[in-house]
Amino acid sequence: MSRLDIFIDRMVSQRAGLEHAAGLVAGMNGPAFELGLGNGRTYDHMRKVLAPRDIYVFERAVASHPDSTPPDDMLILGDVFETLPLALDRFGPVAALVHADLGGHNPAKNDAFARAISPYVQPLLAPGGVMVASDRMYFEGFEELPLPEGAVAERCFIYRAP
Ligand code: SAM
Repeated sequence: MSRLDIFIDRMVSQRAGLEHAAGLVAGMNGPAFELGLGNGRTYDHMRKVLAPRDIYVFERAVASHPDSTPPDDMLILGDVFETLPLALDRFGPVAALVHADLGGHNPAKNDAFARAISPYVQPLLAPGGVMVASDRMYFEGFEELPLPEGAVAERCFIYRAP
């Protein structure tokens, strides 16, 4: 596969995964968390499919398109290893949906990062809450859900908290 193939698979999987997860959590209260704003494309799609749910965005350095930049009060700036524990203190285990796209171009580094960040993400999810990730996560006791039509295996992972 070319890098373009892999990139396209990731994009279509993010869209399919987020739309599927939005349906799964439609009956739940609680905010959504976007981990890794980047250009803001997935954040913008989350706004579309999750409205009017609150979406808090975690990012260490904002460089998003102006049309997809969250308001200051919904932005949690800093390294996620520091800000996720603070978010747990602030909100408790209430997130209905967490989306993570924190990786770069190195699969081994992405896997190590996902392994390290998993225990920081797991306690944020409400019972029944759903996580959509571009990398395999390492949760204990969460169910890995089948992918929806349109998502590509290994480019998207969906988990649900018990
Ligand atoms: N999904 C985004 C979009 O649609 O535009 C792209 C996200 S981009 C691949 C990854 C983002 O995660 C980058 O903006 C990067 O700054 C952020 N990031 C990576 N590691 C981070 C960390 N430890 N703490 C906070 N943000 C981080």
